[in-house]
Amino acid sequence: CGIVGVLGDHEAAPILVEALKRLEYRGYDSAGIATVNDGVLGRRRAVGKLVNLSDLLVHDPLPGKSGIGHTRWATHGAPSVTNAHPHQAGPVAVVHNGIVENYRELRAELAENGVNFVTETDTETVALMAAHYLDAGLSPVDAAFKTINRLKGAFALAFLFNGEDDLIVAARKGSPLAIGHGVGEMFVGSDAIALAPLTDRITYLEEGDRAVVTRTSLEIRNEAGELANRKTRQIKLDQ
Ligand code: GLU
Repeated sequence: CGIVGVLGDHEAAPILVEALKRLEYRGYDSAGIATVNDGVLGRRRAVGKLVNLSDLLVHDPLPGKSGIGHTRWATHGAPSVTNAHPHQAGPVAVVHNGIVENYRELRAELAENGVNFVTETDTETVALMAAHYLDAGLSPVDAAFKTINRLKGAFALAFLFNGEDDLIVAARKGSPLAIGHGVGEMFVGSDAIALAPLTDRITYLEEGDRAVVTRTSLEIRNEAGELANRKTRQIKLDQ
């Protein structure tokens, strides 16, 4: 299972699929991507091998230069298109590796607020919670941070927002996550291998970190919300 993200200068879909291919070695049962195009979120998902997602994209392309992608290893809910990531709730799309241990509790809280669920996954709760906070008037970054603060368990997460084609919010707790620096482009990946053809300049998030990523900036905060200084390294990998 794996996570990728791109805030790029080119069409994101092929870059996302290629990066996901480099994470295939981790195993997965389904895959999907979401992009922002002219400010509008869209997504495509398919069960099985990445070639199924590629085929789908041939028939039903997904334009946009920013996006997130995911290979899923189902833990909560069967492998199906509905349960595949990205999960979208209104103006926010989320990819997640790991398990949200308190998702039942969060689900009950959302249900009390009249929120409906369409999947069996723990991850949908994350998207719905972020949408709930956006609805309450929080900015995308604040809504994502507030959501992350509510989560128990192990996760790597990436958020993409409607109307924001230069923003990914990413977080790491228990699952590794790397940010790749391009020239006027930024990338997110479960590991540096996923990003090797794109860049060799990598910042690894540390445990509990959350990152606000744009094409020209990277701001990392620790679990307490304080600005954190993480080294950017030059990683040499065989491509
Ligand atoms: N727990 C999530 C799900 O089952 C994420 C699984 C993963 O790590 O791919 O959808």
